[in-house]
Amino acid sequence: MKIVVFSGAGISAESGISTFRDNGGLWDKFKIEDVATPDAFSKNPELVLEFYNERRKNISEVNPNAAHITITKLEQKFDVTIITQNIDDLHERAGSKNVLHLHGCITVAKSSKIDGHYKYIAYDDIKIGDLAEDYSQLRPHVVWFGEEVPELENAAAIIQQADIMITVGSSLNVYPAAGLIHASKTDCQHFVIDPNVEELKLPENFTLIKKNAGEGMSDLVQRLTLG
Ligand code: NAD
Repeated sequence: MKIVVFSGAGISAESGISTFRDNGGLWDKFKIEDVATPDAFSKNPELVLEFYNERRKNISEVNPNAAHITITKLEQKFDVTIITQNIDDLHERAGSKNVLHLHGCITVAKSSKIDGHYKYIAYDDIKIGDLAEDYSQLRPHVVWFGEEVPELENAAAIIQQADIMITVGSSLNVYPAAGLIHASKTDCQHFVIDPNVEELKLPENFTLIKKNAGEGMSDLVQRLTLG
């Protein structure tokens, strides 16, 4: 039995990391075009680096929550792959093994010239003048708006194998990532855990668990392991 967990910003909300679109979310405070596009980095690299340095510091100060930890229990019984839209490392810190970061990971920096020359930086700041192996300015390894999502095909191939897909804490509004749920087999069983997603917006064969990530994941794991 192959299970794919598709996680979004909402799974990290209970750890204290702001989501993206909810009221009080990150983008109420910052404009996307000022901090999360290639153009923003060309125009004002200091601001962009500072924005991500702050995100990285914030992530270093929080811990995985019940939802991240419950997924590791699922991994003890099933073949589980996590595809996350999150740039935090909370799945790994909870102990999950197979994690694919669709939008990159904040603890890694990379060349600003080519898609490569990655460098693990943990929770250190990236400063102007910090260089990649190709002597270009280092930038965060995150996929900005307007950039391609290099892991998209890999993710689709993993989802095509899934017998069960659990989408947790994603508004399913950010494309192309959100479209991935449709890459699944026709008989794949879908669960969506999110307190705010509307049932009517989901395809008919999807089961909505309208709860926070921690509680919803715990309910579902009980159901899958007992049933
Ligand atoms: P989104 O912000 O568009 O949607 C978040 C979803 O989480 C919403 O549907 C909301 O109802 C739900 N949610 C809020 N609190 C919840 C809780 N306690 N339990 C369960 N669900 C909850 O997020 P998205 O769909 O992941 O797209 C956002 C993009 O922004 C992603 O691409 C991601 O890379 C990036 N992002 C990442 C982080 C992070 O790394 N933690 C944080 C913010 C944004």
